[in-house]
Amino acid sequence: MLLTCLVSMTEAEYLKYKDPKQPLNARIKDLMKRMTLEEKIGQMVQIERTVASADVIKNYSIGSVLSGGGSAPKENATGEDWVDTVNELQKGALSSRLGIPLIYGIDAVHGHNNVYNATIFPHNVGLGATRDPALVRKIGVATALEVRATGIPYAFAPCIAVCRDPRWGRCYESYSEDHRIVQAMTEIIPGLQGEIPQNSRKGVPFVAPGKTKVAACAKHFVGDGGTTKGINENNTVIDRHGLLSIHMPAYYNSIIKGVSTVMVSYSSINGVKMHANHDLVTGFLKKTLRFRGFVISDYEGIDRITYPAGSNYTYSVLAGVNAGIDMIMIPFTYKEFIDDLTSLVKNSFVSMSRINDAVKRILRVKFVMGLFENPLADYSLVNKIGAQEHRELAREAVRRSQVLLKNGDEPLIPLAKKASKILVAGSHAHNLGYQCGGWTISWQGQGGNNITQGTTILSAIKNTVDKDTEVVYKENPDLDYVKANNFSYAIVVVGEEPYAETKGDSKNLTISGNGYDNIKNVCGGVKCVVVVISGRPVVIQPYIDTIDALVAAWLPGSEGQGVADVLFGDYGFSGKLPRTWFKSVDQLPMNVGDSHYDPLFPFGFGLTTNPVN
Ligand code: BGC
Repeated sequence: MLLTCLVSMTEAEYLKYKDPKQPLNARIKDLMKRMTLEEKIGQMVQIERTVASADVIKNYSIGSVLSGGGSAPKENATGEDWVDTVNELQKGALSSRLGIPLIYGIDAVHGHNNVYNATIFPHNVGLGATRDPALVRKIGVATALEVRATGIPYAFAPCIAVCRDPRWGRCYESYSEDHRIVQAMTEIIPGLQGEIPQNSRKGVPFVAPGKTKVAACAKHFVGDGGTTKGINENNTVIDRHGLLSIHMPAYYNSIIKGVSTVMVSYSSINGVKMHANHDLVTGFLKKTLRFRGFVISDYEGIDRITYPAGSNYTYSVLAGVNAGIDMIMIPFTYKEFIDDLTSLVKNSFVSMSRINDAVKRILRVKFVMGLFENPLADYSLVNKIGAQEHRELAREAVRRSQVLLKNGDEPLIPLAKKASKILVAGSHAHNLGYQCGGWTISWQGQGGNNITQGTTILSAIKNTVDKDTEVVYKENPDLDYVKANNFSYAIVVVGEEPYAETKGDSKNLTISGNGYDNIKNVCGGVKCVVVVISGRPVVIQPYIDTIDALVAAWLPGSEGQGVADVLFGDYGFSGKLPRTWFKSVDQLPMNVGDSHYDPLFPFGFGLTTNPVN
C-alpha cells in the first residue's frame, strides 16, 4: 500500500514533457496524451492583445496572442511596459492546468517597428537593392534582439512575396520582382532564429533556445505578390509551372533554413482562397516541402473564406482547418471559433488526427525554442531597443540601398559639402514618419517627426555639410523664389505618404501632395537632385529631363543619415534596382524578361560613385 502510494506520488511529480533532457518527440507525445480536446483547440487559437487577459488565456487554454498592427500596451510604451504586458499574459498561460506557455507574436517587419524608439530598418524593397544577404542576416540578428527585449518571442516576418506589380499596396514588403533575390534574402531567417544545426531533419523548425532569438514567419503563402493588377488579397492567375518557379522557391529556402512558421495569404490561386487550399497548404507545403513547423492563418483570414450559399462561419472554420491551417489568428471571436471547431470535431467533420497534427506542430515550435524552460521575460535586454550599434547597422543598410538613377553629364553627385547656400525642398525632407512608411508605430504608418526617434534627411544634410554652408529648407518654393536666391544647388525630397496593405493599392503610382510642382519649380530654377521616398517605382518619366540627378531612396526608416552619407560622397552609391522602373503605368505589369519590356530604368540598374576622400 505504502509502496503504491510512493510510486504514484513520484509519477504525479514527474512530468516528462517538462523535462528538457527528454527528446523533443517524447515531450510532445507525453504532453499530447495529457491534453483534452478543449486544451488542444485552445492551443490552435491566437487572440488579439486587446481582448486578452490572464484569465481568458487560462480559462480557454489559449495558445497565442498577437499585437495586430502593432497594438501597443499604451502610447510610447517602453520596453519595460511591453515586458510587463507579455509576462502578465504568460502568467495566465502558466497557471493553466498543464502550464503550456504562450507564444506572443508581432509584426516586426523592418525592425521592431511598433515600438517607440526602436531601430527602424529600410523596408524590404530597399534591402533588395543592397543585394546583400549577409547584411540582411545581420538585420535579422538585431531585430530579434530588439523584439526579444520586449518579451516577445515571435515575429511575423519575413514577407517573402515576389511582387510582380508595383500597383500592389504591399510591394515594399517584397524584396524584389525577381524570385532569386527574394530567395537570397531568406538569409534573414537564420538572423532572426539562429543558424540551423547541420544534419537537422529537413523541415524541422529551428529557433536557438535562450532569449535572443525569435520564431520567424515566412509569409504570405503563396502567390500574394502575383495578384491581377496588383490588387491586394485578390486572385493570382498562374499555371503550376509559374507558381512553382516564381512564388514557391523562397518557401523552399525558408524551410531549409528552419523557418518555424508560415502564414497563409488572403489571396487566391486560380480562384481558390489560399485559406481553403488543401492542395497547396497540406499537399505542397506540408507533404512535398516537408514543412514541420506550424501554419498560421492571416488576421481574420478564416472569415474571408467565401461561404457557399446557405453556409456560415462554421463552414469557414471547417475549410480552413481541413486545408491544413494549424494556428488561427482569430483575433476577436475566439469563443465562436472554439465552439465551432469543437462541434466540427465531435461531428467528425474535422478529424482528431487533423487536430493532433496542428497541436503537435505548435508544441514542437514552443519546445524547440525553449519556451517551456524560459517562458518569462526580464528587463535585461531593454537597452538593446534602438541601440547605437543597431542604428549604425540601419544607417549602413540605408546607404547601401540608395539607387542612383541619373547623374547627368556633369555629375552633381557627390554633392559639394562646401557651398554658400543650398536649398532643401519637398514634403519628405523633414518627416520621419514618411521616411519610415507603413508598419511603423501604427499599422498604416503616419507622418510627423514625433512618431519615434531618428534622423530626418534634412537633419542629416545639416549634419553633413560644411559648417559655413547655409541650408535653407522651404517645403514648397515657387520658381521665382528658387531663381532669385542664388542657391548653389537644391535637394528635392518627395514621395509617397505612408500606407499599408489595401490602402496602398494604386492605379496611378504618383507621388503625393505638391511633389511634381516642387520638382518643376526647383529643378526649373537651379541644379537639383531629386530624392524619391517611396515603396516602389513611381511616375517620374515626364519630369526626367528637368532633373539633374535622381535617387531612389525607398523607405529608409529611422536612419536618414545614410541618405546624406552617399549624397555627399562619404560613401559611394552601390544600390541596384530590385524592381523595374516603368515609364508609364499603362505598361504594368512589366517584369524583367517580359516581351513588352521597355522600362525607364531596367531591373538591376544603378549608377555607382566613388567615395570622396
Ligand atoms: C497582414 C499580415 C500581418 C497580420 C497581423 C494582416 O493584416 O496581412 O501580414 O502579419 O495582419 O498583424
